[in-house]
Amino acid sequence: MLSFEQARQAILENITPTGNEQISLMDAVGRVLAEDIDAPWDMPLWDNSAMDGYAVRSSDCSTIPCRLEVTGYIPAGALADGIEVMPGCAVKIMTGAPIPKGADAVVPVEETEAISEEQVTFNEPVKTRQHIRFRGEDVLAGERIMAAGTIIRPPETSMLASFGRALVPVHRRPIVAILSTGDELIEVGRTPGAGEIVNSNTLALAAAVREAGAIPRIIGIARDNLECHRDKLQEGLKADVLVTSAGVSAGERDLVRIVLEELGVKQVFWKVGIKPGKPTAFGMKENIPVFSLPGNPVSSMITFEEFVRPALLRMMGHRQVIRPTFRAVLRDDVRNKESDRTAFLRIRLEREDNRFYASTSGKQQTGLLKTMVNAAAIAVIPPGRGFLAAGEEVDVHFFGNYIDLLEEGR
Ligand code: AMP
Ligand code: MG
Repeated sequence: MLSFEQARQAILENITPTGNEQISLMDAVGRVLAEDIDAPWDMPLWDNSAMDGYAVRSSDCSTIPCRLEVTGYIPAGALADGIEVMPGCAVKIMTGAPIPKGADAVVPVEETEAISEEQVTFNEPVKTRQHIRFRGEDVLAGERIMAAGTIIRPPETSMLASFGRALVPVHRRPIVAILSTGDELIEVGRTPGAGEIVNSNTLALAAAVREAGAIPRIIGIARDNLECHRDKLQEGLKADVLVTSAGVSAGERDLVRIVLEELGVKQVFWKVGIKPGKPTAFGMKENIPVFSLPGNPVSSMITFEEFVRPALLRMMGHRQVIRPTFRAVLRDDVRNKESDRTAFLRIRLEREDNRFYASTSGKQQTGLLKTMVNAAAIAVIPPGRGFLAAGEEVDVHFFGNYIDLLEEGR
C-alpha cells in the first residue's frame, strides 16, 4: 500500500498541463499564463510628468524664491511637439503629459504661487529630474514582463493591459467528469425513502472542481450493474479527467475498478495509507487521469482535496499545487486508532497571540458530515502517531480558500 506522499507523487508524475487557449484579458483573472511575455515597447513610452505643475529648467531655480515666465500649457493627452522651455521660463503641465524640450524637472502646483497667467513663483528648492517619469524607467522594450506559469491577478492584468494585450495565452481549464455510483442513490430534490441516500457527492465534487478553477461535467449515477457502469464510465472518459465516487471498496457490488480496467484504464494504485480515504484508486487512460474516490461523503471530499485538486491545478499550469501547511498547537489530546496510516483530522482553527490553535471540529468518524461543515482546516497527522497530547504542534492546511474561517482565539 502506498503512503500518502507516495500516492500524491504517483499522481502528479502522471499529470501534465493541458493545452493552451487564447482568452480575453477580461476573463483571465486566476488563470495561468501559458507563454512568456516580453514588453513590446518601453514603459513609460516617453518622459512624462508625475505631477500637475510646471516643467522647468532646474538650473533656473538655484535660488529661491524663484520667479519664472509661463510660456505654454501641456494638458494630458497633448503633444509637446514644438514646445520648449526657454531659460527663465516654465510650461504649465498636467500629470502624464509629455515633458517638453529644455525642461529637466517638474515643480508641483502645490509648491507654486501663480502671480498671474504669465508668471509663477516657487519657494521650494528644485532638484534635477524631480517628478519626471522617464521613458523605460518601469519596463524596457524586450524585457521579460511575465514568465509562463504566472498567475494572472489584477496587477498582471494591469501590466498586460498596459502593453495592449487584449488576448492572453493561458492553460485550458480541464473538463472534469463526475460520476456517482450506487443503487441506493436518489437525485437531489427528492425526499429519501427507506434505504435511499441522496446523491450529495456529485454536487460536492462539482463544487470542489469549480473551486479549483476547472469545469465540472456531471455524468449522473451509475447503478450497481456492469452495463450501467460501462455506459457511464465510457461517457466519463470523454472528458479531460474522470472522478468517480463509491463502488471502489472490496464489496461484491464494487464494480468501478473492474469496468475501468475493461475500458483500458491502467491502474496506478488502489488503496493508500490514509484515513479517511483508504480505498482510493488512481489510473490513467492514455492521458486522462481517472480518480476513483470512496463513496463516503467525507472521504470523497478529503481525497478530492488531497489528490484531485493538486492534479487539476497542475493541469491548469499552476506551479504551487499543494496548499501551504503551517503549524498549529493542538488544543486537545488526539487518539489515533490505526495509526499506521496518515490521518486527516477535520479541525477548527483559532489564532491567539499570533499562534494558531487546532481543535477538533467534532467526532472524526468518516460518516459524520457536520464535522466537515464545521472544519476550517485539515490537520495532517503522519503515520506512527497513535496519541498526540494537547500542546503538541501539528501540520495543518486550510480546506478551501476561506481564510475568514480562522477564528479569534478564546
Ligand atoms: P460504497 O463505497 O459504495 O460502499 O459507499 C460508501 C458509503 O458512501 C455508503 O454509505 C454510501 O451510501 C455513501 N455514498 C455513496 N455514494 C454517495 C453519494 N453519491 N452521495 C452520498 N453518499 C454516498
Ligand atoms: Mg456502493
